[in-house]
Amino acid sequence: MAEVLVYVDHVDGAVRKPTLELLTLARRIGEPVAVALGAGAENTAAALAEHGAVKVLTHDASEYADYLVVPKVDALQAAVESVSPAAVLVPSSAEGKEIAARLALRIGSGVITDATDLEAGAEGPVATQSVFAASFTTKSRVSKGTPVITVKPNSAAVEAAPAAGAVEALAVTFSAQATGTKVTGRTPRESTGRPELTEAAIVVSGGRGVNGAENFALIEALADSLGAAVGASRAAVDAGWYPHTNQVGQTGKSVSPQLYIANGISGAIQHRAGMQTSKTIVAVNKDAEAPIFDLVDYGVVGDLFDVVPQLTEEINTRKG
Ligand SMILES: Cc1cc2nc3c(=O)[nH]c(=O)nc-3n(C[C@H](O)[C@H](O)[C@H](O)COP(=O)(O)OP(=O)(O)OC[C@H]3O[C@@H](n4cnc5c(N)ncnc54)[C@H](O)[C@@H]3O)c2cc1C
Repeated sequence: MAEVLVYVDHVDGAVRKPTLELLTLARRIGEPVAVALGAGAENTAAALAEHGAVKVLTHDASEYADYLVVPKVDALQAAVESVSPAAVLVPSSAEGKEIAARLALRIGSGVITDATDLEAGAEGPVATQSVFAASFTTKSRVSKGTPVITVKPNSAAVEAAPAAGAVEALAVTFSAQATGTKVTGRTPRESTGRPELTEAAIVVSGGRGVNGAENFALIEALADSLGAAVGASRAAVDAGWYPHTNQVGQTGKSVSPQLYIANGISGAIQHRAGMQTSKTIVAVNKDAEAPIFDLVDYGVVGDLFDVVPQLTEEINTRKG
């Protein structure tokens, strides 16, 4: 069976969920071979094996932490040359997309970014994408070289599928460009204790209807009852009620959670562009004609100041 390379996103050996989702998708195409780089790479093996990696190629060097993406591209290229895989899958983070694009250029292949699903095809893996502000769903495949595909978080369920996960050292020779862009400092972001917006399984968002920064406490309380991330419409961000880092939409972040709850958000096309691929969409809006109701699975026509606290209380009660 053909091998499929999966680029591992991990923090000191702790594998992030989007990588485990990639292993689920990789198994549809072939045998997953994981590539884990940097400090703690070997510690990823147990989690990767549990989720279907037949092999884990590891390499650690200070270059991965000290320089931007090129050392990782060098390593992935070395993995492609040693394995000759059927495809290379990379998580769709900003860094992942840059790595994928550079790798595809290096190995003379095509690249597909932001896939939301992946299936085996007679002529190579077929990727589903949501395009033009989520108004079309396309299916495409790379027609030249080894397909390099980045996949959005939450595109597949994480499924355990124990495999050997044999750790092998990857031989990497860094290119002259590897040390071209040095990391000169790092400032850790203040943690909210909530999941990362683009990876969260549940996102609770607030818009202009929230009517003030102080009222975002209601949105945060609902999010916390569900273990969710908090999102915001551009109107709420532009008003200074919530940070830009939490903006969902065309000029904000693109999210694709299992559940998206929009509160006081009208559903403008630019907002939809960032959340329309969510699996289940719920909206609370006092205007029954609001466009957001065209795309919801469940809609509540009501004042969010009545609905949201009741919902939060009910969820907390049921959690016991
Ligand atoms: C180039 C460009 C890029 C853009 N990028 C983005 C983007 O990335 N993300 C984004 O979100 N927007 C973006 N926008 C802006 C977008 O067009 C909308 O203006 C914005 O999404 C509106 O935000 P909103 O839904 O919160 O506000 P509104 O459209 O004003 O809607 C507020 C909603 O709240 C409801 N409401 C009011 N009070 C209550 C209440 N008490 N209870 C329940 N419901 C209530 C109202 O009925 C209304 O439907 C972009 C626009 C442009 C031109």
